[in-house]
Amino acid sequence: MIRTTGTRIKSVMSPPNQKVLTRKVPAKWLPAYEVHIQSVERKIAVVAAWALLATVMFYQSTHQLRVTHQPDLWLPELGFRIPVLLSALITLFAHYTRKPRLQSRQLLRFMGFSIMAMILALFLFHHKGQTSNINQITNMYQISNMMIISFFVVSAFSVRGIGEWLLMLALPLALFCLAAWAKGLTMEELLPFMFDPLVMMVIGLVMSEALRQMRLGEFMARQQLQEQATTDQLTGLLNRRAMHHLLQQEHARAQRYGTTYSLILGDLDRFKRVNDRYGHNIGDIVLEESARRLGRHIRAEDALCRWGGEEFLILLPQTNLDGAMHVAEKARLSLADVPMDTGEHSIPQTISLGMTSCSGVGDIESAIKRADDALYLAKENGRNRIEAIAAPSLDPAVTAIDIKPAQTDEP
Ligand code: GH3
Ligand code: MG
Ligand code: MG
Repeated sequence: MIRTTGTRIKSVMSPPNQKVLTRKVPAKWLPAYEVHIQSVERKIAVVAAWALLATVMFYQSTHQLRVTHQPDLWLPELGFRIPVLLSALITLFAHYTRKPRLQSRQLLRFMGFSIMAMILALFLFHHKGQTSNINQITNMYQISNMMIISFFVVSAFSVRGIGEWLLMLALPLALFCLAAWAKGLTMEELLPFMFDPLVMMVIGLVMSEALRQMRLGEFMARQQLQEQATTDQLTGLLNRRAMHHLLQQEHARAQRYGTTYSLILGDLDRFKRVNDRYGHNIGDIVLEESARRLGRHIRAEDALCRWGGEEFLILLPQTNLDGAMHVAEKARLSLADVPMDTGEHSIPQTISLGMTSCSGVGDIESAIKRADDALYLAKENGRNRIEAIAAPSLDPAVTAIDIKPAQTDEP
């Protein structure tokens, strides 16, 4: 059922924005959050791919400009850089052609892992133990600088948090330690080179976590605003505006594919009397409880909204009048069968329902008007009952579906 489950004004508006402070994405927002994260990852992946392409090409093509130019190293170094180039090219190809259908998350992992593999492999390749050779020292100095940058950048790629960091940075680092150990390098030899990169890694991690929290906060605030704009504050149901949007979608689908949807418009019977007799607050409780009961009897794909003061509209996608009849009858009985328990009072409350179907002929307004006319008939014919008006294309005759009013002790 499309409605904002159980979110009432009291919790939605509770200061000071509790959901934002707890930084936990509620289950109902997880699909939207996943879309949001994927879009962030896509942006980061594309920028990172262009930057990588430029940087790696620059390093490869300016070898002869460097202090320690060694022509024989041109090819082996290219070998180390190829995975990085490949990851950047695949990312750009995937982004600009939408093929292959790799997710930015996987592409970011590929880039992060290959950057780490490249820089750590270059380190092992160039490290020749304690040396006073100036070429060696300069090489190691340049690689250390690149390590600092790489550790920082790859940490910043961890858009989803520590799990990604473990795959992109910690895993290659662990493999590197194994390789270094196999090569006979001791911790004392490694640590002087690793100290600055590790510090930058921590800074990168803290920065990426701060950015993650900031994005999460923005996402939650936006979702809350959206929810408030589409939710009825008293009942927690969709409001009229949100329902209009769904109606337009369903109507367009009916027009395009020739499907049929149904509408059920319900109006509480003699509700003014409840307010007059018990007061507005009790009236509100009855409204809330009515909304809850109606919600229990519709399917996940249906939508229930508070259409007006004490009016509710149910949209049943891909459902004909026969199917809608079952829903309407269950909805009617859900109110009529058990009086509303407001604590101090037990108040019998019934509802009249008007329904119609629509297969995309005419506009939405005329479908709503038919449901409204059917509701008027239900009121005219004695309340606590259902009347239906079929869609014009199916049967122009007004079809009154007789349902005996339940015995109610009206207030
Ligand atoms: P009928 O069976 O013909 O529908 O009779 P009725 O009394 O329900 O109809 P009427 O339209 O005269 O009254 C609707 C009442 O619903 C009037 C209004 O005060 C009340 N109402 C509308 N919105 C709210 C609300 O948010 N809270 C409360 N407590 N009452 C509301
Ligand atoms: Mg009314
Ligand atoms: Mg009414």
